[in-house]
Amino acid sequence: MNDQTPNDQTSAPRSGGPADPAAIADLVAANRILADQGVLDGYGHVSIRHPGAADRYFLSRSRSPAVITAEDIMEFDLNSNPVDRQGRLMYIERFIHGEIYKARPDVNAVVHSHSPAVIPFGVSTVKLRPICHMSAFLKNDVPNFEIRDCDGMTDLLIRNAKHGAGLARTLGGSNMALMRGHGNVCVGPDIVTTVYRAIYTEVNARLQAQAIALGGPINFMAPEECDLITGRRDVHYQRPWEMWKSRIAIP
Ligand SMILES: [Zn+2]
Repeated sequence: MNDQTPNDQTSAPRSGGPADPAAIADLVAANRILADQGVLDGYGHVSIRHPGAADRYFLSRSRSPAVITAEDIMEFDLNSNPVDRQGRLMYIERFIHGEIYKARPDVNAVVHSHSPAVIPFGVSTVKLRPICHMSAFLKNDVPNFEIRDCDGMTDLLIRNAKHGAGLARTLGGSNMALMRGHGNVCVGPDIVTTVYRAIYTEVNARLQAQAIALGGPINFMAPEECDLITGRRDVHYQRPWEMWKSRIAIP
């Protein structure tokens, strides 16, 4: 068992109420889309805040995102204790989700990935910066979580509330944070926007590496341009979501 927090039903938190099946279906689709798009590998995870209870969230039991079904989805309180564990194995790193939901009332979905093109930007002196209009959400200085500053030498996993809170502090008000030598975390007001951000963080990293390989100075997006794009009200994240969804098997 890879869980460090034994939890018996006498101390389990109460449920925030029944889950909207459509919200759970979107969470299952998000897992499979992010696996299909190469953002999540066999590891990594995505959660949503409980639509009816701000102090609860939904996250799969410990399984690979590509094969998750609605039956795998578990409910947690913001200390990342399961409401009804049923002996299931849980993600060690679920504290990422609980601690970010605590710190960011505006956030309703969280993706933690090891998306490969992004990792070099967490370990080098080259900053990840928005290179095209699709990734204008990266406009702020992308923060980089250094777990050594939080807890010295570790195996780099977010194993407890201390690590999760440290990551949430580094994330601050940003849409995305790098995790040095590990991966990244993307957040947003809803699951569709957050999936979009996780996919285009990976795309941006790939494009930026290509621009660096061409040589010479890079003309990045100006913060004003990023503001004009992120301030638009006519952006339809549903459009790519529908396409990404068409490529996955819905269980
Ligand atoms: Zn991880």
